[in-house]
Parts: sequence; structure tokens; C-alpha cells
Amino acid sequence: MAVTHRFALGALLFFGFVLPSQGAEYDVERRKMVEEVVADAAYTSSSSGSSALSSRVIAAMQKVERHRFVPSGLAVMAYHNRPLPVGYGQTISQPFIVALMTDLMRAKAGDKVLEIGTGSGYQAAVLAEIAGSVYSIEIIEPLGKQAGALLKSLGYGNVQTRVGDGYYGWPEAAPFDAIMVTAAASHVPPPLITQLKPGGRMVIPLGTQFMTQYLMLVEKKMDGSVTTRQILPVRFVPLTGGH
Ligand code: SAH
Repeated sequence: MAVTHRFALGALLFFGFVLPSQGAEYDVERRKMVEEVVADAAYTSSSSGSSALSSRVIAAMQKVERHRFVPSGLAVMAYHNRPLPVGYGQTISQPFIVALMTDLMRAKAGDKVLEIGTGSGYQAAVLAEIAGSVYSIEIIEPLGKQAGALLKSLGYGNVQTRVGDGYYGWPEAAPFDAIMVTAAASHVPPPLITQLKPGGRMVIPLGTQFMTQYLMLVEKKMDGSVTTRQILPVRFVPLTGGH
């Protein structure tokens, strides 16, 4: 009897506290991460031009489990507000930057959005919580395939991924309500401007790897004219490819 009780107590401690505490621990950490992201957004509001993140962006950041998108050995750091390596010399962006870029896109429910640089798939998942459909292109084949499989296994049926050079966009699925580029380019790729709907927005870091890069908000007006606005200094891996 005593042995059974001890076993039952052991099992309770193990299953009741050890296993679920992993998920619960991440819930708490994710809430803290979102608090930091919201604070960062307030701190940078004068340059970003947005005084607060939209409630939909905050809800998406609270929902998507970032620990599933980082290498398992780094899961314990998944909710630190910082970029992390995801292999092949690439990184998953800092949560604040993910939230800010998503917010700047102003995507609405039902919108069709394009992401260049799938990487881990995390940003695509955040976009999938906000928009109607997400198209995401990654140039490094194993990363793109891995992210595509992960997004599918997590039930993101509204995300389509493809391996290729995102500089040229996804013409068959164009036009897009909004476009996000998550690697730094020297200029705004003209094919992406063409594939953006009039009235649409594009968020893209511009600059080289060794000089200051700026996050830019590109707006295509209803008459087809394009304006750009500098948002914040940032640091991204370069947009590669043969273009
Ligand atoms: N959005 C990603 C972070 C991306 S890091 C995430 O949430 O994890 C930038 C990614 O852009 C890298 O994976 C890099 O391989 C990819 N990339 C660089 N140049 C590219 C190009 N021309 N077309 C598509 N993807 C590109």
C-alpha cells in the first residue's frame, strides 16, 4: 500500500507538475515576452509612427508558440526578446521586430500577404493569425522545406511556402494586399512593387550588412505612385540570390 501510495505521489509529481509545467512555464514566459514587446513599441513610437501595437498583433504574438520554431536546444530561450540562430547562418527575428513589422503592414482578416524569407516559419505563423492567406518564399531549400512541414503540422492551412528567390515575388498569386521582406535588400525589388495592390503596404529592411540598415514602410497609393518612410534602424541578414 505504502509503495503504491508513494508511486502514486511520484506519478502525480511527475505528470502533474513536471510535464505540464513545461507548457505552463512557456505560457508565463510568452506573456512576459509580449509585455516587453508592447513596452518596446511604446518606447519607439515616435520613430515608428505607431503609438501602440494593434490588439490583433498582440493577440497573435500571445498565441504563436515561438518555442516550436527554434532549434530544440534553444527552446528555453525562445521567449527572450532577441533574435536566435535557426541554422544555415540564418536567424529568427527578435519578437519586437516581428510585432512591429506585422503591425506596420496593417493586414486585415481576409487579406492575402506575401513574406520573403520564411526562415523558421515563425513570422509566417504570426501573419497567418492576422491575414486570410500567407505566401512565403525561402531561398535556402532545407530551411524552406522544414518551415513548410512545421507550419503544416501546426495546422496552418492558410500558409503556402515555396523555395526560390523572393526578389521576384510570387507572380501567380499576385496581387498582394501587403508584403513583408525579412532580409535586408539594397533596394526595393521592382517585381514586389508590381505585385503589391494599389493601397497596399510593404515593410522591408534596406541597407547592406556592414552599414546601418533601416526598416522602411513602402506604400503604393491608389494612383500607383509609391512613397517610402524610414521607420527604425535594424539589423537583418542579407537578401541573397542572383538578382
Ligand atoms: N522570417 C523569418 C526570419 C528570416 S531571416 C522567421 O520568422 O524566422 C531571413 C531569411 O531570408 C533567411 O532564412 C534567408 O535564407 C532568407 N532569404 C535571404 N535571401 C532570400 C531571397 N532572395 N529569397 C527568399 N528568401 C531569402
